[in-house]
Amino acid sequence: MNYIEKTPLEKWIGNKIGRNALDLSRESLEAYQLEAFQRTLDYAKNNSAFYRSLLHDIDPKDCRTLESISKLPFINASDIRNHGNRMICVKQGDIQRIVTLDTSGTTGAPKRIFYTRADQELTIDFFHHGMATFTEPGDKVLVLLPGKTPGSIGDLLQIGLARMGVEAIVYGIVDDREAVIDIICNKQINGIVGIPQQIFALAGSDRSETVKLAKSLKFVLLSTDYVSPAISQTIHESWGCEVYEHYGMTEMGLGGGVFCKALKGYHLREADLFFEIIDPETGRPVPDGEFGEVVFSTLTRTGMPLIRYRTGDISRFLTSPCSCGTLLKTMDCVRHRLTACVTLESGLILTMPMLEDLVFSVEDILDFDAELTSAEDGLLTLEPKEKECLIISINTKDALKNSIAKIQLKIAASFLKSLVISDKLKIIIKQQGYKEPDIKAIRKRNLLDSRNRTGDRKE
Ligand SMILES: [Zn+2]
Repeated sequence: MNYIEKTPLEKWIGNKIGRNALDLSRESLEAYQLEAFQRTLDYAKNNSAFYRSLLHDIDPKDCRTLESISKLPFINASDIRNHGNRMICVKQGDIQRIVTLDTSGTTGAPKRIFYTRADQELTIDFFHHGMATFTEPGDKVLVLLPGKTPGSIGDLLQIGLARMGVEAIVYGIVDDREAVIDIICNKQINGIVGIPQQIFALAGSDRSETVKLAKSLKFVLLSTDYVSPAISQTIHESWGCEVYEHYGMTEMGLGGGVFCKALKGYHLREADLFFEIIDPETGRPVPDGEFGEVVFSTLTRTGMPLIRYRTGDISRFLTSPCSCGTLLKTMDCVRHRLTACVTLESGLILTMPMLEDLVFSVEDILDFDAELTSAEDGLLTLEPKEKECLIISINTKDALKNSIAKIQLKIAASFLKSLVISDKLKIIIKQQGYKEPDIKAIRKRNLLDSRNRTGDRKE
């Protein structure tokens, strides 16, 4: 068996909690987490009106085990929308950055996350040590994420990389593919960090071979969206480099976990975050190995601590030890979100990642949207046996070279091979025509359920 380098996160976490390599163990890490969790409860109750009322009958000292945390209430996105200001634990003047999250498709107040300077430092420190998994001093990394604003993800990443002697070129969201390919080749870029969909489009471009021939690229790190295996595979094959994934969200302080060289799942930022996997129906924790909703609590944040925040992401803790030999937990790739799945009449569950795998396996598709409608809508002529219709609107890069009919056939063939299709589901492929990827491309593709026009647009 090949030797796989241990994730640098383990040593970093050990140092953070005052343990050296010899006395860091799962037990000592969990003892630290329990203590930090109790401290956070205490701090949040004493400093925020929201937590004072939510946790009024909870005594932090009664949380004697990590298991007992499962008795505490959850918070969710609508709590942040409606009571975010009341979750803040510091004076307004101590807030260094406020991130307002996209609210499209939702009603009500926007979701705002508040960070102090110390909170931002935690993120920079995580980026510094997490990136050490695949970069080394002297490397040049191209950051294809927003980075103009101080405190933005690209800005914090640049600071973190500079601490390890790595130069980061922050380009921002890809708006000109030719220009980005030129930078990769002319500046001998060693690594790229960006949004899966955008890097996929770069790797699929006509000049992809130029990047491979330039031979400088060692890794790609995909971040901020769900990554379908088809996307990862295409990038790996086109550019011949390793493809890593990062899991994080603004609420987590941008970073949550990152692949090690074994490429099997995310090792988690366990000194700063406590993760749980729960049954989304009952709210009870599920055994390791079983899928459920990802819930996290911040252990070190001061501006706006989040306690048992329900992410809506579906994943599981992997039970077999990672081949890198770390004692850190490994979370499986997040391929599925609660709000991006529908149950078909046949009982089959259709998820956006399933569709992504099927649709993106057809070359030249840059992006797509999907909508499920019902035959009763009367808008579509369906065979009587087909009660539901899935409309996939595709964005292709070259409508002339790849006729819509050809793409339709390819997608249909891809669906036929999978379990998703049943004779009750009709599939219609529409062409959106070519669009440059959305400038705000940190979007999560939604599966719009408009069956029976109930008006319930899923978030
Ligand atoms: Zn590992």
